[in-house]
Amino acid sequence: GVPQVVIVGRPNVGKSSVFNWLAGRRIAIVDDRPGVTRDRMTHLMEHEGRFFELVDTGGMGHLDEDDLTEHIENQIAFAIDSADVVLFVVDSRSGVTTLDQEVAKRLRYLKTPVICLANKTDDHTFDGAAEEFARLGHGRADKISTMQNRGRAVLMNQILERL
Ligand code: GDP
Ligand code: MG
Repeated sequence: GVPQVVIVGRPNVGKSSVFNWLAGRRIAIVDDRPGVTRDRMTHLMEHEGRFFELVDTGGMGHLDEDDLTEHIENQIAFAIDSADVVLFVVDSRSGVTTLDQEVAKRLRYLKTPVICLANKTDDHTFDGAAEEFARLGHGRADKISTMQNRGRAVLMNQILERL
C-alpha cells in the first residue's frame, strides 16, 4: 500500500495545522481549545512523483484533561501499527513539557524513523527554544512554522528520504 506518514504529539502543538499545511488545504480542524474529539484525518500526498498518506492522529480516542495519557497512547499505538515515518510535533513557544517527554519515551524503541518538528518557530527568536528539543532523544528538531510557512521544503525532502 501507500506509505503512511503519521503525525503524533500532545494536544495543541499544531498537529492539525501541520497536516493542513503539508496537504495544502484546510481539512483537519485547527482549534486552540484542547479536548474536542475528532476523527482520524488522512490525505494522499504526491511530491515529485512519489506518494504517501499523511495521517493526523490527534482526534483519535477520547481526550480530556484527566486522560491525556490514554489519548497519547492511542496515537502511539496507531503509529506503531501503521507508520512508515512518524512526525513528532512539539511547540517552540512552550518548550519541552512532561507530556512531550512521555511521547518521546514511547517513540524511542520504535524501528520506524521519527522526525521531530519544532512547530511555532515563527521567527529566529524561537530558534534557541527549538534546539532544546534535542533533549527528547530524536535528533535535532526541524524548525518549522505552519503560520509563517517556514521549513516546508526541507521537511518534504526529509520525509521522502525516509520512505
Ligand atoms: P493540535 O491540537 O496539535 O492539532 O493543534 P492545532 O493544529 O489545532 O493548533 C493549536 C493552536 O496552535 C492553534 O491555535 C493554531 O493556530 C496554533 N498554531 C499552529 N501552528 C502554529 C505556528 O506555526 N505558529 C503559531 N504561533 N501558532 C500555531
Ligand atoms: Mg488536532
